[in-house]
Amino acid sequence: MIAEDLWVPLPYWLKEKYEVVYEPSLYADLDRLRDELRYASALVVRNQTKVDESLLSVSPNLKVIGRLGVGLDNIDLAGCRNRNVQVIVARGCNANAVAEYVIASMFVYARFLHRCDQSVRQGLWDRQMATGTEISGKTLGLIGVGDIGQRVAIRARAMGMRVLAYDPLLYEANMLVQDFDVEQRELDYVLSESDFVSVHVPLTPETRHLLGREELKKMKPTSVLINTARGGVVDEGALEELLVEQPLRFAVLDVREVEPPSRDRLSALPNTLLTPHIAGITRESSVRVSNFILQGVDAFLHGKRAQGAIFE
Ligand code: NAD
Repeated sequence: MIAEDLWVPLPYWLKEKYEVVYEPSLYADLDRLRDELRYASALVVRNQTKVDESLLSVSPNLKVIGRLGVGLDNIDLAGCRNRNVQVIVARGCNANAVAEYVIASMFVYARFLHRCDQSVRQGLWDRQMATGTEISGKTLGLIGVGDIGQRVAIRARAMGMRVLAYDPLLYEANMLVQDFDVEQRELDYVLSESDFVSVHVPLTPETRHLLGREELKKMKPTSVLINTARGGVVDEGALEELLVEQPLRFAVLDVREVEPPSRDRLSALPNTLLTPHIAGITRESSVRVSNFILQGVDAFLHGKRAQGAIFE
């Protein structure tokens, strides 16, 4: 059963091999979803479906869940493990897309491209407002350097940036440290030294509000925070207060604590750039993610090793 949008056509081979229920908005109709799940051996979701005990308990035949993307905060992993349900995640399949979004957002900020475009459309030709800043020579701090953070680091180094990274799994012999001169540092140092801070950790109980008011205050008052990870990693209320108190601060937010945001005061601020959780979505990544997950689910159902399976 595919309960969310694949964003690519349903592959022919899948229809040939399986009885497929594909309803891109099924996640929103919980009663029907529960009903359909009674018979399903595989469930494919994006990040809207909350796969919790209430769903798992009505899915006696479920063997595998495919997650179209990365980030497993919408899936009860302990519940899946207890019920012997495998989970397959599209590791790295949209990492290039997110990394390119991060780099693009730095340039949009540095050269005010969005504001310049608006002003020309309004009939203005104000060249002084467009005096931007350069990315080369600036310091980028990365919180989390897994599949996405690594790709951001390598691109940033190629652009002449100094790159600092905080990730408990980063070690001296890591390729980033050895070959790309990425500096392995503690969180406080990364926050206080960086011109740009980009967040790439999963949302877990440990990382919820990892950037709270105290941590955000350690950042330079002129710094740019980029969050493409999950809204819950940053205390949005504290960020909003600091953006008001320190108008030279800037925030690029692709993800929010509540999506879509219900009470969006951040959109009223001039020092934010807001997008609707699209960093990982490109034509290329949609194909990659969908192929990876559907082929992984198929392999698993045939007793083969599935790439991206999280349980041994
Ligand atoms: P990943 O698992 O490859 O890397 C995550 C890294 O975070 C790991 O290296 C891990 O050691 C590190 N980490 C975990 N806890 C930490 C902590 N407390 N402090 C510092 N580092 C910590 O994941 P990824 O593929 O790089 O993706 C990261 C996150 O980005 C995903 O979990 C997902 O939530 C988000 N994401 C968003 C989009 C989007 O469209 N906006 C797309 C893809 C992924």
